[in-house]
Amino acid sequence: MILIGNGRAITWNKDKPYLSDGCVAVEGSEIVGLGATPALKAQYPHAEFYDARRRVIMPGLINAHTHIYSSFARGLFLPQSKPNRNFSEILKNLWWRIDKVLDENDNLYSAYAAGLESVRCGVTTLFDHHASQRHVTGSLPVMEQALSGIGLRACLCYEVSDRDGPETAERAIRENLSFIIHTEMQDTSLIKGMFGLHASFTLSPETLEKCAAAMNGRRAGYHIHAAESVEDLIDSMKKYNKRVIHRLYDAKILGEKTLAIHNVHVNGEDFELLAATKTMAVHNPESNMSNAVGCAPALEMMRKGVLTGLGTDAYTQDMFESLKAANLIHKHVQADPSAGFAESMEMLFINNAAIAAHFWEKPLGVLREGAYADLIVLDYNPPTPMNAASLAGHIMFGMSGRAVASTMVNGRWIMKERVMQTVDEVAIMARCRAQCADFWKRVTA
Ligand SMILES: [Zn+2]
Repeated sequence: MILIGNGRAITWNKDKPYLSDGCVAVEGSEIVGLGATPALKAQYPHAEFYDARRRVIMPGLINAHTHIYSSFARGLFLPQSKPNRNFSEILKNLWWRIDKVLDENDNLYSAYAAGLESVRCGVTTLFDHHASQRHVTGSLPVMEQALSGIGLRACLCYEVSDRDGPETAERAIRENLSFIIHTEMQDTSLIKGMFGLHASFTLSPETLEKCAAAMNGRRAGYHIHAAESVEDLIDSMKKYNKRVIHRLYDAKILGEKTLAIHNVHVNGEDFELLAATKTMAVHNPESNMSNAVGCAPALEMMRKGVLTGLGTDAYTQDMFESLKAANLIHKHVQADPSAGFAESMEMLFINNAAIAAHFWEKPLGVLREGAYADLIVLDYNPPTPMNAASLAGHIMFGMSGRAVASTMVNGRWIMKERVMQTVDEVAIMARCRAQCADFWKRVTA
């Protein structure tokens, strides 16, 4: 039994969203009590006590869409003759050059790097979308090895696409299936599997059919980029005379366990299909701005009943950063200073938890009895009154991932007072840098 107390506890628990002297009781992997520090100390006098020292205690953050494989891209310069003019050129000139070269060790150390960065930013659950054409078979277990070694909660998949030929697509289908079966068999509460698909414009009707056939009878759900750039929409209209979401609906890809990522080039008809099939959407504002693909109509999509969460698309691992970008982009684009604030808070703190509930057995993203013990402690010393009514403003304008001091996943301290507890961070980061230096040589050769 561990008590994490003497803190300002943001619980996202409907009855008591904020406790000014909050304490969380953790037994095994679960939260077993929540209340005032003196009361819980009296109830559990022999429990180990973690003193939050008036700092903030809150549920661990959930990143609903990221790419671990992009870890080695930070600072990488790939020479090209002309600047990128659109999203397709960004994919061809950067990401598709990177994912063609990644090998087993690159995947392992990318996962360590992204995992450790996530822990430092207070992310305790992540949904990853992976690609490494030289190392398809066995790539997901290698990433699992790193993430489980750190102790993170994650849902992994491999993106099927036609861009590397039918054999690679076939290997990717098998990698998804075998990993889904593996996670079902081992019955772990940490690692889950989904079926990854790249995007409509890189998937032929035959390959989509093969994927749907492979998933027949399984309830794992698909994880796919949908209508991210206008090129995806144009491709689908030209080849199939259907909008992207309509095409995915006809191919039986949509559904209550499917994650449709981005949804920038969507309209009312698409919202209806997403809502009717209970397909989940994920908004990635920084990535959309960086790739200049447009502003996803995420607020409208939420109003039309589509469960919409928030991801980073690996632009960062810091969900506070993504939250701030989501708040700003809609204000800016709509020229409406009241747009986006409540919705971006809802995406990160309510909807990401609702998305995670489709994959894990117990609640995540909330501090309450019966939820998984995934929580963080942040250094935050507010200059203004902090209470249930002012919470959202403190989070939006005062907090950032770098304020996270301690991170607990499944009742286990992964980072305590900024020191990693489960792995030797210094040694692993040295290995990551060595591996990355070697990768940079190979990718620029
Ligand atoms: Zn993505």
